[in-house]
Amino acid sequence: MFGQRVSLFTAFGLEVRANTSWVILAVLVFWSLATGFFPAQLPGLAQPVYWVLGLIGMFGVFFSLLFHEFAHSLVARARGMEITGITLFLFGGAAEMAEEPPTPRIELEVAAAGPIASLVLFLGFGLLAGLLAQTPLPEYVAALLGYLALINLLLAVFNLFPGFPLDGGRVLRAWLWHRRGDLLSATRTASRMGQGFGLALVVLGFWALLGVGALGGLWWILIGIFVMGVARAAYEQTAMRVTFEGSPIRRFMAEHPVSVAPGLDLERFIEDHAYRDHYSAYPVMQDGRLVGRVRTRDVKQVPREDWPHNTVERIMSPCEPHHLASPDEDAQQVLQKMQRGSSGQIIVADGDKLVGIVTLADLLNHLALRRELET
Ligand SMILES: [Zn+2]
Repeated sequence: MFGQRVSLFTAFGLEVRANTSWVILAVLVFWSLATGFFPAQLPGLAQPVYWVLGLIGMFGVFFSLLFHEFAHSLVARARGMEITGITLFLFGGAAEMAEEPPTPRIELEVAAAGPIASLVLFLGFGLLAGLLAQTPLPEYVAALLGYLALINLLLAVFNLFPGFPLDGGRVLRAWLWHRRGDLLSATRTASRMGQGFGLALVVLGFWALLGVGALGGLWWILIGIFVMGVARAAYEQTAMRVTFEGSPIRRFMAEHPVSVAPGLDLERFIEDHAYRDHYSAYPVMQDGRLVGRVRTRDVKQVPREDWPHNTVERIMSPCEPHHLASPDEDAQQVLQKMQRGSSGQIIVADGDKLVGIVTLADLLNHLALRRELET
């Protein structure tokens, strides 16, 4: 449900996509407007009018979210950052940045742009609603604009809470980063604030749901869980970046790794290597040259009783670029390669010379140890 994305349109050179989960938010907004908000605000209208108002209101919310995200994205791009697009999803929108802000100042500007844009829309819609209320136009025009003003105010205020991943959390991180000169420690504080905020939303949600019987509580619980998850992930991501960026993968690899020959039979391969070292894949070496890799699980292609009569050559495959790294490659890039290729292991080679092997577990253990020793 969270994976599918459809492209909606492109504006200012930015592709706007919607995650399929956004449909739930759209329907929820439409439904609550058409059956709750407008009938309560403007009693006595025909039901079809409420449906139409709900639909326009939904598009207004959609516009407001995009306006907010475009503000982040355009400021980021003006500051030289690469933006991959904007995605709408269950809990709103997200500007997708290919990289983290390079300086505290840029982070501050990019973060503040969203809430400022929402406040501008709040004032714009509010002013317009006030003006139109004086005219003979139907009452519902001003009510609709008033609703959109309120939504934008809420969007600005909610996002200003100083905890990751909210905009206020980014502002806090920029400020701490500037003051402490330490990105990781600044991120840790902003992330903890964000996790606390998420937890508070969950608690409030349960209270609303169980104490008052408000179904909206469920919504707060979901948002709270989401915020807690993203806040934690943001810290992990930054910790990885700070630890690995700028260091060659050579520093983290295991040297003189175990390798196998193409002529080794599968029985011995399993008994002497797979069951002993538990690697998910092994480099295959012939005459001192790296000729491919063999995945342990591919042994299953050959029936158990045929293992002694078949060799590694039958199930090995060539080393693709995403299985390989050169010794001087940036460790952060290698880590990303592992995450993208969903392979927990990379062979480090200099041409066809095997130099080492590095696993995701090695990198994560290094990270955990460093965190334990340095915090
Ligand atoms: Zn924002």
